Amino acid sequence: MSTTTPTPSGLTLEPGVPICQTDLPLDWYQDELKPYAEEYLALPDRTPESVLPWLDGYVRPAQEHFGDSLLLLAHYYMGGEIVQLVERYGGAVADSYALALQAARNPEKKVIVESAVHFMAESVAILAHDDQDVWITNPKAGCTMEMLAKDHMVLPATDQLIERYGDDLLVIAYMNTSGRIKSIAGSTGGAVCTSSNAHLVVDWARKQNKKILFVPDQHLGRNTASRLGMDLDALVTLPDPSVHGGNWTLDQVDGGLAALDKAEMILWGSSCGVHTIFDADMVRWWQARDWRVLIHPESPLEPVLAADGVGSTKYLWDQLLAAKPGDKLVIGTEGHFVRNARREGAKRGVEVRHLAEIPGRLSGGCGCATMSRNDPPHLAGMLDLLRRGEAPSLNHVLAGDAVDERTGRRDRLSEAERAELIGHARASLERMIEITEAG
Ligand code: SF4
Repeated sequence: MSTTTPTPSGLTLEPGVPICQTDLPLDWYQDELKPYAEEYLALPDRTPESVLPWLDGYVRPAQEHFGDSLLLLAHYYMGGEIVQLVERYGGAVADSYALALQAARNPEKKVIVESAVHFMAESVAILAHDDQDVWITNPKAGCTMEMLAKDHMVLPATDQLIERYGDDLLVIAYMNTSGRIKSIAGSTGGAVCTSSNAHLVVDWARKQNKKILFVPDQHLGRNTASRLGMDLDALVTLPDPSVHGGNWTLDQVDGGLAALDKAEMILWGSSCGVHTIFDADMVRWWQARDWRVLIHPESPLEPVLAADGVGSTKYLWDQLLAAKPGDKLVIGTEGHFVRNARREGAKRGVEVRHLAEIPGRLSGGCGCATMSRNDPPHLAGMLDLLRRGEAPSLNHVLAGDAVDERTGRRDRLSEAERAELIGHARASLERMIEITEAG
């Protein structure tokens, strides 16, 4: 049973195709999970013929043990095989918006196991009921965009902006943020957004004449401003967090205080390495050869303006499903997603290519490496340890956890702090849901 609509269902495991990465660095594994990784690495060729019976030996007993209370989740960007495995075991594959709603909308599910990055699992936990537990198969699976917008970086900036602009400042947190950042947004009366509803959420804030701090993706913020016809010269991008962290003062921002005073929207300076590789020349190269180019709005403004269509992963998948036999689509987004789209397209007579797949270019496009750290041995091990009552607490996701992605260790809030955080973070998520459903 799949509990979300936009799934690449119908994908089947192809005999002879190796499952996921083959040379897995064992330091991705916690000690408890290493035995499963070692068994996996010893399987002959790690093709479906060898992996599936091995995986069944762990997943089926867990399913029998937990029955209907078990829910497996994966994001579209996961290695194609994990997407197919989660679907094979009746789980849900979705984008970050639909994933976030999974616990809240399925109260009978008590044990929720997610194969994706940490902020996605935490969003599920923020909206979960008290008797639902959320687990991530690999706590070292972080989102690099989110890792450059940790609360210890964003809070000093927000505090300075609030000191200068008071209640006029409203924070919009992209879904790709920790619960702590979503909570900051909520405490300013702001909201969360996704790539499919960012224009609705920013428009909602503009109608209140607010000065907007958009965190963390500068490209999605700029693309949204462009879509809404805002003056792009009046946007201010804050100092590069990969260089400066949160150690700067407002007068050190480009253009200084005058630029900040004039700005309708201030952009946090983070971005996604997977999407920033795209440029307008790539788009034009394909268009000159009669391909239709679709791109994700985490990409820079120039290729977004040049493309034939722009939208979220759900939009990109829907465009593929709506394509006619003989259509030729180029997709600029995460590599595993494009590979899944290519397989699905082949069944429908639709040709699909990755935007960066241009002869002579060094990069043919990349997958989200951190998300792919959730692989078959992590899924097998997590489910087996949960069934035996031995699941490591490192994999248990609670709202407000701050994770160090190098070690997987988490800084956990007290119950009182967590309750306060959940209040603000839920408010920001619920505002997004209201704005989206009203739009
Ligand atoms: S593709 Fe980019 S934005 Fe998405 S989870 Fe991976 S690092 Fe984060």
